[in-house]
Amino acid sequence: MIAARRKAKIDQKRMAQLLDVPATVAQPPAIRAVDVHKVYRTRHTEYHALRGATLDVARGEFLSIMGPSGSGKSTLFNMIGGLGKPTSGKVFIDEVDVAHLDHNELAWLRCRKIGYIFQSYNLIQVMTCLENVMLPMAFAGLDSDRAREKALLLLELVGLGHRPLHRPAELSGGQQQRCAIARALANSPSIVLADEPTANLDQKTGGEMIELLCRLRDELGVTVISATHDPKMLMRSDRVLWIADGKIVRSCTPAELKAEGGGHHG
Ligand code: ADP
Ligand code: MG
Repeated sequence: MIAARRKAKIDQKRMAQLLDVPATVAQPPAIRAVDVHKVYRTRHTEYHALRGATLDVARGEFLSIMGPSGSGKSTLFNMIGGLGKPTSGKVFIDEVDVAHLDHNELAWLRCRKIGYIFQSYNLIQVMTCLENVMLPMAFAGLDSDRAREKALLLLELVGLGHRPLHRPAELSGGQQQRCAIARALANSPSIVLADEPTANLDQKTGGEMIELLCRLRDELGVTVISATHDPKMLMRSDRVLWIADGKIVRSCTPAELKAEGGGHHG
């Protein structure tokens, strides 16, 4: 019996060798950007914000991107999040070329699949926290009772359960940032784009938000990309990339970063 089982195992491996295929097929990346360029044109000037950015992000990976201000982090997020079109190059989400999506498919992607935590929050000022978090769920067609219930839970999760009826102007920068995080999670996205999500948070709250992003990865397999210089966030990432002048110039692990003296580069 045991011999037969062992034999079956060997046969399977042998079969893979004979067919020249890996025994386990590698998962395709959740996100792939290939040679992405973005040129912003105004009436008098032209600015080359991305100059051939290329990266792959595995499903369920927590990737952090570091780079000086103006190096193209937010622009890269906009291209990945389908908020702008690359001047050239391609972005694939789950192997689908974003440029080939029609208006409705793109709207679906932005609403259901990608949770975007904007650097400048982009909360709607005339709406309460609760309404801001409910809004993406309304777009997704969730009935308002369930949306309200879920929004309250999300606000509780980010520590704003006691402030559901405040408007953004009545909140501190850190509280607005947390509201923006709750809103990004409204439709249970499989990809979270977090643009400097702890920049305005104190150490403790920042740490809690990092743990929240890690839990999304660990428990739900969510893919997280953050733009950050927060050493705590860098250390919890699976991989760290550097962007400079619109190009990915380096990749390393948090352990390598630590060996070099922490995340205080670039
Ligand atoms: P980062 O997020 O790394 O600070 P950004 O992606 O925001 O960098 O910006 C990269 C460069 O592109 C900057 O020089 C910025 O001024 C320019 N830029 C960004 N958005 C626009 C825009 N909408 N129009 C013109 N220039 C822009
Ligand atoms: Mg930015």
